[in-house]
Amino acid sequence: MALTFRRSWSDPDLDQYRDTVVRFIDEHMLPGDEAARHRGHVGHELWRQAGQTGLLCTDIPEPWGAGGDFRHEAVLYEEMARRSLTGMNASVHTIVAHYLLNHGTDAQRQRYLPRLVSGECVGAIAMTEPGTGSDLQGIRTRAERRGTGYVINGSKTFISNGFLAGLVLVVAKTDPTQGARGLSIFIVDTADCPGYRVGRVLDKMGLKAQDTSELFFDDVAVGPEQLLGGREGQGFFQLMADLPYERLIIGVTALAAMEGAYQATLDYVRERKAFGQPIADFQNTRFKLAEMATEITVGRAFIDRCVEDLVAGRLDTATASMAKLWGSEAQGRVVDACVQLFGGYGYMNEYLVARMYTDARIQRIYGGTSEIMKEVIARAL
Ligand SMILES: Cc1cc2nc3c(=O)[nH]c(=O)nc-3n(C[C@H](O)[C@H](O)[C@H](O)COP(=O)(O)OP(=O)(O)OC[C@H]3O[C@@H](n4cnc5c(N)ncnc54)[C@H](O)[C@@H]3O)c2cc1C
Repeated sequence: MALTFRRSWSDPDLDQYRDTVVRFIDEHMLPGDEAARHRGHVGHELWRQAGQTGLLCTDIPEPWGAGGDFRHEAVLYEEMARRSLTGMNASVHTIVAHYLLNHGTDAQRQRYLPRLVSGECVGAIAMTEPGTGSDLQGIRTRAERRGTGYVINGSKTFISNGFLAGLVLVVAKTDPTQGARGLSIFIVDTADCPGYRVGRVLDKMGLKAQDTSELFFDDVAVGPEQLLGGREGQGFFQLMADLPYERLIIGVTALAAMEGAYQATLDYVRERKAFGQPIADFQNTRFKLAEMATEITVGRAFIDRCVEDLVAGRLDTATASMAKLWGSEAQGRVVDACVQLFGGYGYMNEYLVARMYTDARIQRIYGGTSEIMKEVIARAL
């Protein structure tokens, strides 16, 4: 069964935009993907090309951005996820832009948003540390007042876009006695920044073309104008406010990856023969495909509703967490079944489903683990 990949939220303009995205992917992303997978990052040029084509931070309003909405963002994420193109983490980049848009001062927006939209500067957000991830309040990175500014000390790990980042939002403790109210976010401009150091590009199971790095801050001095929003102690609340947006992105990419894996598998099982017949004709294969098609179709209804709710400004954190939880878990199930139907070829990295399999695993961990999603959902019951 060929699924029609129609979205309830799409329209002719978005379809046209999708064509632009696909053209960009064909011309600029696919040809360099293998090299980027070996190198561990896509390089700055691709980011700039994406910016020039108008693909970055599409839902940032004018005068800084193109003034689209989340649907434009979703189109880019979907088309990359469907092809297992993970090198350019455009979602983290956009999330950084949203922190500036929603919580930054006018001067901060003015200074940084155009650079993110153009791709001149790659954005990253640094919360996780070697000693803590899920428990954000356990972070140890400190920002201590020195004169009118601050000095940041600490280390971060697993930071997406970390190697290429020109702008890092760093979560640090400004008052260790205050729990959640003691966290603040600092805008660190990494160019010419004494004390800032990027560690290794980490060797991951999947997401091979994407740079995930350690970051070190040794007496990094920042001015008061680098404190996001200009007020101390707001970090935790700033992070919480943007959660529905971030979690839905993972739901959206999960479903698009499932669709991509399903389509590739359908094509493969119709071609591949065993015992004198296409493997598509075995009842087991047909049942597996039927299960996948059902899961994708049901998921599409839910994710599309979440996209519409987000655009309308009414998606709550618990529902977005369901999208992240269900999407990432379903992606794991579907991609695993696809690898099985590919047999040995499914284990070979030159095949899409093999790459999708290792890429899928992280979806249940980053952006809040499945267990944390269940906590959030359970709290809202
Ligand atoms: C490829 C990649 C990219 C990433 N990108 C970023 C990034 O850009 N920025 C950033 O800041 N971080 C990033 N992370 C970090 C990621 O968000 C964390 O790894 C994740 O939040 C989990 O934290 P942890 O690794 O410390 O695991 P832990 O918090 O130590 O959790 C270990 C296990 O314990 C479980 N657990 C923890 N608390 C509870 C609880 N209360 N109840 C039940 N179970 C619990 C978890 O679910 C998990 O199974 C990235 C990670 C990876 C691998």
